[in-house]
Amino acid sequence: MNYRTQIIHAGRDRDPYTGASSIPIYQASTFAQADPERPGAYDYSRSGNPTREALEWAIAELEQGETGLAFASGMAATSSVMMLFQPGDHLVVTNDVYGGTYRALTSLFRQWKLEHTFVDMTDMDAVRDAIQPHTRALFVETPANPLLQISDLAGLAALAQERGLISIIDNTFMTPYLQRPIPFGFDVVIHSATKFLGGHSDVIAGLVVTRDRKLGKRVKAIQNTFGGILGPQDAWLTLRGMKTLAVRMDAQQAGATRIAEWLQQQSDIKHTYFPGSSDHPGAGLHAKQADGPGAVVSFELADKETTLNMLKRIKLSLVAVSLGGIESILSYPACMSHAAMPREERYQRGITDGLLRLSVGLEDPADIIDDMDQAIQAALSQG
Ligand SMILES: *Cc1c(COP(=O)(O)O)cnc(C)c1O
Repeated sequence: MNYRTQIIHAGRDRDPYTGASSIPIYQASTFAQADPERPGAYDYSRSGNPTREALEWAIAELEQGETGLAFASGMAATSSVMMLFQPGDHLVVTNDVYGGTYRALTSLFRQWKLEHTFVDMTDMDAVRDAIQPHTRALFVETPANPLLQISDLAGLAALAQERGLISIIDNTFMTPYLQRPIPFGFDVVIHSATKFLGGHSDVIAGLVVTRDRKLGKRVKAIQNTFGGILGPQDAWLTLRGMKTLAVRMDAQQAGATRIAEWLQQQSDIKHTYFPGSSDHPGAGLHAKQADGPGAVVSFELADKETTLNMLKRIKLSLVAVSLGGIESILSYPACMSHAAMPREERYQRGITDGLLRLSVGLEDPADIIDDMDQAIQAALSQG
């Protein structure tokens, strides 16, 4: 089956009880039991709900894993995966990890004595050097946020296998339509389905897929114990969003490609970061392991003043956190996604006060370009 067809029919593509074309929202906390000694397929919605299950089966199939699990948010998904580990365990984590994941590791899970080392995962030697006797996992993001550096999926998965580590990837920026890490050897795939999978900036959701059923069972036990489940309404909305993933992604990344080309021609833009640009250092590797550049472009203006002035004049794109919606969203990492990171550390990672991240939506890219052009020109003439 072609992947675009799979997206439409993955998991349970109709209601088994009524034939309904969309899995109904099973808004129930509990399920009547015909025989108290033998619980049915569903007993209590924290442990299992047919609407949530439809989403869980769909994402498992699309990521080519065995088990899919849906959580109340991307962070609930990530935190639940981290609960696989114990005090004294150590994780090797990509430098440019999502800000919320950074906060979870450096505050909440530090309190629990889960240790971590941040490394530049584009450098395999650095990853090898960071592995210690008590290391249990690699936590990867590629493209990483917000500079969109690319690390080697096959190389990292092989290294994890060789050292007996669990390989975990946050695949939010790509979605399974563009990048499927499990066939490369990854054990766990995490999504903030709030972004491209949901796709309409109207739901917060998280997903986990495991390569094998055994690890899936462990994460499911955490899901059921910790209870960070996705409700049936939001599961339905996420599933509905996912149906149009392929057409949205195709159009949005075509728009992003055009906007990245325009940005590169602007003398007032110091730098443009886009995995689809031939001058991106990871472009070749990315093209080998993913089916497209994605729809996120980052770029750098001169300084904080110009950047803030530009953002005040933007009319079309939403100036906001988040990404992956049908509307273009312009984020300011220094004040938004990476606000939790100390300034010095942020600068070391290249996240300067002039850096902006654009998630390209479904508008005509010419209109986004016109709007950015007027905002940049006005900001510069004001400066
Ligand atoms: C947004 C995001 C998250 C967190 O997801 P929430 O749904 O906001 O909890 C994790 N990873 C990445 C890459 C994200 O963009």
